[in-house]
Amino acid sequence: MEDLINLTGFEIAQDIKKGQFNQEQVYTFFKDRIKRLDPSLKSFVELYQEPVCSEGSSALKGLPIAVKDNICIKGKKITCASKILSSHTAVYDASSVNLLKKAGLNIIGTTNMDEFAFGSSTENSCYGPTKNPWDTTRVVGGSSGGSAAAVAARLVPFALGSDTGGSIRQPASLCGVVGFKPTYGLVSRYGLVAFGSSLDQIGPITTNFIDCANLLNVICRPDNKDSTSADLEVPDFTKSLQNNVAGLKIGLPKEYFAEGLNPEIKEAVDAAISIFKKKKVKFIEISLPATEYAVATYYIIASSEASSNLQRFDGIKYGLRTPASSLRSLYAKSRQNGFGDEVKRRVFLGTYSLSSGYYEAYYLKALKVRRLIKKDFDKAFTEVDVILTPTSPTAAFRIGEKTQEPLSMYLSDIYTISANLAGLCAVSFPCGFTRDNLPVGVQLIGKEFDEAALIRLGFSYQNCTDFHKKIPPLAMKS
Ligand code: GLN
Repeated sequence: MEDLINLTGFEIAQDIKKGQFNQEQVYTFFKDRIKRLDPSLKSFVELYQEPVCSEGSSALKGLPIAVKDNICIKGKKITCASKILSSHTAVYDASSVNLLKKAGLNIIGTTNMDEFAFGSSTENSCYGPTKNPWDTTRVVGGSSGGSAAAVAARLVPFALGSDTGGSIRQPASLCGVVGFKPTYGLVSRYGLVAFGSSLDQIGPITTNFIDCANLLNVICRPDNKDSTSADLEVPDFTKSLQNNVAGLKIGLPKEYFAEGLNPEIKEAVDAAISIFKKKKVKFIEISLPATEYAVATYYIIASSEASSNLQRFDGIKYGLRTPASSLRSLYAKSRQNGFGDEVKRRVFLGTYSLSSGYYEAYYLKALKVRRLIKKDFDKAFTEVDVILTPTSPTAAFRIGEKTQEPLSMYLSDIYTISANLAGLCAVSFPCGFTRDNLPVGVQLIGKEFDEAALIRLGFSYQNCTDFHKKIPPLAMKS
């Protein structure tokens, strides 16, 4: 069975159907890999001895899947990698978890993340950082870093993550896997612990586009438990697994190829562009002028929403409680003890920009700029079908390198956050390696609900390249 790590999830599921092995054997195979290899990575928060599952069916039936620790699984611990929730058990299933069960998938455990999904490195976790399987002295990206590392090391065929400003795509890029953020509203947020409610989306992290399309088929469904869920007929995404991309028009925004982009990243992204050119894709230089305001806009909006969403963690309703002589000081002490530094920083930022006197100057202004960012994309998409950019300005950085510099950490998301602000779909997939053998990702951004175009382009790219088949040496150890 050692060979399983070289197969796609879809292929393993087919082998199960053919009776080559059964799902218990597959579960045990991956569980053993996690037990053996994860102590050096720490990508998992909890590993389930027995799968969480129910009777169900789909093209992926019988496969194990890992879930980020901010998505509710009934009866299981959900901590968001925060001390404040360390003793909390979910009392219901997230809609996406429900759909995994209905598809016959076996949930194998929960993965590490930045506390409440605030971060770009998975270092802001009460469990400590997850290590990059390509170089364990380096970060995995964040905040869905546990999911990305687990998939990269083939500890699971795939996993779910969540993306508020890049948290699926940036760790996918730093770990060499495919991370897809669907259009806002396509996957239900019910049961996802809210960070920035107008930005959050759940999405798949896989090694390849075949699994990505199949997993999107499982989790994309209208849901009346989420008022922002899009009420539309969801297409069969596997129909977009086509090799024909001739004639598609891709925009290259000049603002995304400016200073700050590491030359080795640029080289790998340029090589991906050349491959698409050979496939007769047309490239057009475009401009997204409001890009320079994206990071500031995002951090005002995301922190404002986060400060409001996190009010519920008050020491009364959930988790950690620090006894005190008055109610007010119980709130204060519980939050002081339960939240890490980055969470406190976001709550300060958000509360400040929402407070009377500053609301107009910061929050309201940010909402207006968000509109401008969206308008830039609307205009660009009258000319092009898809936009191509780097995913992250650098490859995986060293653990500890940016923890003292929040601003430089925030810049890790410079290429990913605009898709969230504009509600668009976007994906990162591996397109090369640096000279230090660290993976590099390229990002495609699509129109609202045009996941199909991204899948088509990604699939046809993977058809003629094999970056996505490379496995970190650490994961090959037997
Ligand atoms: N890194 C960004 C942040 O810290 C995005 C996080 C995310 O997408 N959840 O807010």
